[in-house]
Parts: sequence; structure tokens; C-alpha cells
Amino acid sequence: MKLRARQDIGTIAWEPSAYGSSHLGTSLEAWRPSGKCELLIHAGIHGEEAETTIALSRALRLLTEPSPHCAAVLAANPDGLIRGTRGNARGVDLNRNFPTRDWRPDPVEHRSTLDDPRDVRLSPGSGPGSEPETRALIDLIEELKPKTVVALHAPLACIDDANQGQLAHWLAERTGLPLVADVGYPTPGSFGTWGGEHNIGIVTYEFPLSTTDALVREHVPVLVELLAGEASWS
Ligand SMILES: [Zn+2]
Repeated sequence: MKLRARQDIGTIAWEPSAYGSSHLGTSLEAWRPSGKCELLIHAGIHGEEAETTIALSRALRLLTEPSPHCAAVLAANPDGLIRGTRGNARGVDLNRNFPTRDWRPDPVEHRSTLDDPRDVRLSPGSGPGSEPETRALIDLIEELKPKTVVALHAPLACIDDANQGQLAHWLAERTGLPLVADVGYPTPGSFGTWGGEHNIGIVTYEFPLSTTDALVREHVPVLVELLAGEASWS
């Protein structure tokens, strides 16, 4: 696929459509593919991981036209991004709010920086799938029916796929990041677990801890290959 000239990459070449609204009423936007959706990439489900949104936006802005087979969501948790919080506006970690068999009401503990202990508490929601952002993402996936979803996160520096599928192997080889089957601690109610229960391949692509500039240089070309359908993984 031909990429846009540098002077044109300030904007995305086509318009998104809404797939729902956040708790604060922000539009949840998806950039849909021109053909049948094979892959969905989403960023910013944790609002303090803005680098994932910036990198996926840059990749989209390099395309001259809609992706043939890949949908993109730049901000799965726009309220968290606006406020700079991991959770949504109600303090819920959306990646522990999916309606899975292992969903639990216990507080979610996370690290405020990579070197800290996991001692900051968030809510997994008042029940499985309690948050509008979670339900809207599920509805979008049920509508688009992608075979695989890539969830962008930071900064654990790994490719995480419980199934160790072809796309995960391709991403690990392409990025040099290690391929793992889990992140090393329990994640009840996570998006990955939900996908596993619904036969949808979920690959968690965790950027390394780095500057936004370095992430854009190293990871945007990988995202462009996925969006352009030129990655040889399927
Ligand atoms: Zn995350």
C-alpha cells in the first residue's frame, strides 16, 4: 500500500463512526475497514497508556485510504485518557470488567510506575460488563466479527497470547519482544480472557517503557503493516 506524503500525515484520511458513548458522554470511535474485518486493533483501554493511542494514530495517518481488513479504535477509554487515569471516569479498570467466568468483585491492584509494588487500587466495576465502554467494545466486536484483536498496552515489553497464535509469533519476531502466555499474575475479567471464552484470538501487544518518539519509530511501521494487510501472519 502506498503511504501518504509526510506533509499530509497531520490528519487521518477518512472519518470514524461511533460505536457507543463513554460514561462522560464522549463518542467511542472506530475507523472501520473497507472490506470484511479480519483484525481489530484497539489502543487506550488504560487511560494512562496514551503512547498506544499516539502510535496507532500515527499509523492510521500514514494510510491514504481505509484499511482493507483492519478496524482501529484509538481510545477504548477516552474518559481515562482525558483525565490521565488508568481506569474510566468511574475508577473502573476496564481490562478487569469483561463478563468472564473468572470475573471477581475484589479491588484491582496495579503499579503506578514499573518499579512500584502493585498497591494502587481500582474497581473491577459493580458487576461483569458494568461499564458502557466495556459493553460497547463487546458490541463492536460482535458486529465486526474480527478473527483476531490486538490490544495495545504499555510498558511491559512483551507479546502476550494465551494461544501463541500465528499473529503473536509474527509480532514477536517482527518487534523482537518476547512471546509470553500470560503476564505473570492473575487477570480476572480481562479482555484476553473474554476473547478466549468466545473463540476470538486476542493478542496483547505491550510496548516497552520508552519515549513516544522511540515508540513511534520502532512500532508504527509494525502497526502500518497490520493495517495495510501486508503482514504475513495469516
Ligand atoms: Zn494496560
